[in-house]
Amino acid sequence: MLNQIWITKNIIFLFSLVVILWQVILGSPMRMKKEREIEGTNWTELADEWIRARERIFERISVTLLPYTDKIHKLPPTSTSIIIDELKSKQLMRMNYSRILWDMETSQQTGHLSLFVDKAMKLLDLRQVMMEVETSVMSKVSCTACKVGTGLLKHFIKARKSEEEIMNSIYRFCVSLKIQSARVCQGITLLMGGEVIYVLKQIEMSPAQVCSFVIGDACEDVYNPLHDWEVAFPPVNKPAVKPPVTPLENVPSFKVLHISDTHYDPYYQEGSNAECNEPLCCRYTNGPPLTPTAAAGRWGDYRKCDTPKRTVDHMLKHIAKTHPDIDYILWTGDLPPHDVWNQTREENLKILRETVEQMVTTFPGIPIFPSLGNHESAPVNSYPPSFAPKENNISWLYDELDKQWRRWLPTGTSHTIRRGAFYSVLVRPGFRILSVNTNYCNNKNWWLLINSTDPVSELQWLIYELQGAEINSEKVHIIGHIPPGHSDCLKVWSRNYYHIINRYESTITAQFFGHTHYDEFEIFYDTLSIAYVGPSVSPYYDLNPGYRIYYVDGDHPDTTRMVVDHESWVMNLKEANLYDYPVWYKLYSARQIFQMPSLLPKDWDSLIDKMTNEPNVFDIYYKHYYKNSPVRPLCNDECRKRLLCDLRSGRSHDRKALCHSLEAKIDADTKTGWRAWIYNGLALSMSVVMAIPRFAYNLPKYVLGLG
Ligand SMILES: [Zn+2]
Ligand SMILES: [Zn+2]
Repeated sequence: MLNQIWITKNIIFLFSLVVILWQVILGSPMRMKKEREIEGTNWTELADEWIRARERIFERISVTLLPYTDKIHKLPPTSTSIIIDELKSKQLMRMNYSRILWDMETSQQTGHLSLFVDKAMKLLDLRQVMMEVETSVMSKVSCTACKVGTGLLKHFIKARKSEEEIMNSIYRFCVSLKIQSARVCQGITLLMGGEVIYVLKQIEMSPAQVCSFVIGDACEDVYNPLHDWEVAFPPVNKPAVKPPVTPLENVPSFKVLHISDTHYDPYYQEGSNAECNEPLCCRYTNGPPLTPTAAAGRWGDYRKCDTPKRTVDHMLKHIAKTHPDIDYILWTGDLPPHDVWNQTREENLKILRETVEQMVTTFPGIPIFPSLGNHESAPVNSYPPSFAPKENNISWLYDELDKQWRRWLPTGTSHTIRRGAFYSVLVRPGFRILSVNTNYCNNKNWWLLINSTDPVSELQWLIYELQGAEINSEKVHIIGHIPPGHSDCLKVWSRNYYHIINRYESTITAQFFGHTHYDEFEIFYDTLSIAYVGPSVSPYYDLNPGYRIYYVDGDHPDTTRMVVDHESWVMNLKEANLYDYPVWYKLYSARQIFQMPSLLPKDWDSLIDKMTNEPNVFDIYYKHYYKNSPVRPLCNDECRKRLLCDLRSGRSHDRKALCHSLEAKIDADTKTGWRAWIYNGLALSMSVVMAIPRFAYNLPKYVLGLG
């Protein structure tokens, strides 16, 4: 009998050992199934069948697969929030900018601009360019300014001027056109000039093509076959789409913290000048304020200032105390401050290390899933793919990210983080998080002008991961920094990403981004997928600091892994500075404030409809969009159209197709007859006049495109 028990025990033990070894060596049976299916698939042979299947799908209207289109879209006409001077736009169209270049070059010896250049510069109207960059409503004016700048640089390169000579000229123009203070002009030129000149030397693109690439549809949408590419999908049919079901009530859920855009400024100085004319104020180096009201607040400032250390510390302590039940954290980048003219690799790495340490100590044992912002590199927005010269190699950042992120991520992520700062992790059986590096979609990442075709094969990797997840019946959340439908995201990258979301719509149950600093969301149509855009911790600018909490459908047999609800928490900066006592409070929860039955994409879509038809519902949204900031500007009908269109824009630079009906509805409701036109014209010209000092002070960000 004893012997029998001993034998049985040994058999069980041996069997368990074999199972464990089997899993360790070969992966889980599920993993094996996935690998076998993928490896065993003869993709070339199946390609024809796949194409045929795709054609059949196109024929079936009920299946919502985004059809391929190579149609070139144009943006809607310029927003009427900008006073359009008919005469001026005609003059601009006729403007011969090669003459400007010639004149600029001859006049630069003395440093004084000729009358002609002065006139031309007034025509370029940098103030309008600033406004357009800010509102993402670009017109011919920004396009012309971009073409003049690029044309000038190309002209210098063609004239075989040395890098030093070109940089000197850029510096002189920057100073004489009062684009920036002399030290910022110098810093920017030294930091970015070399890389930009290198890139322009490598490419055979006209200024029109360059500016169309950077600005998008508003700049004539010049077709360039070099920047038209498509990722390949495996020949596996898209499974039939089941309409998403509302998550059950009273079932387990995850509580998820979303922190974004901290922009912690180690040199923030209470009482320093908050009204400087540089990209970032409120620092020691800005000196004393000229008036008492220009002094930087103790807990931060609504002007162009980033987050003081005491505010970051206070927020993290408050979160740890108020939400001790957080299951995991999404951390979507932009850690360094906006002092983009004097950033160094060392300083940015120091901020990364310090912040990671702070997160580890504040949230011990809580998994954190980070993604990379556009500010982490030095210079800002510069993320050279593998074809860049050795000295520009980005491994200085990616290797350190791998080291730091490994505090929470498994070793298996190392390979892709070192290659491109993206990774895949299985959070729970059946639930995966994919972190994407959106700097390869950033149209201010000038390296992409050389070659934008799926840098470091990131999107191809994304497809591979999603295909694997589909085979294994996993649900996926995607996290990243720049929302893929934002105008900062390259049109071709965005279009490909949109196809991917469409193909794997049954697998992806939510997406999370940051970057805009506002509290908003983005809908992907055709698939009805939702991207949550979390608010910034930084008050930069006109904002209260904030963060979000999501409740995600948790571990139970009917889990959908969808977001069940979310809350936005903010701190009233004005009161904090007034009473020297910051109070963090729940501003709203989505389902309650908007009276939504659930947060399915269709519910968000209905909310957009509601906001289009009922301005008072939009007002609630707008208050939260600015995190209840007391200094938020007024939002007129044009502003309402723009913000609602942003919510409909899951893919970038396609506003005409995505927002036409919405705009037509608002126009019809607001009866934009001649009376309204005159009234709006008067009101807006007043607001433009009133805003001039503010524009002058905001100049750097817009001109430099440092969003
Ligand atoms: Zn940011
Ligand atoms: Zn950003």
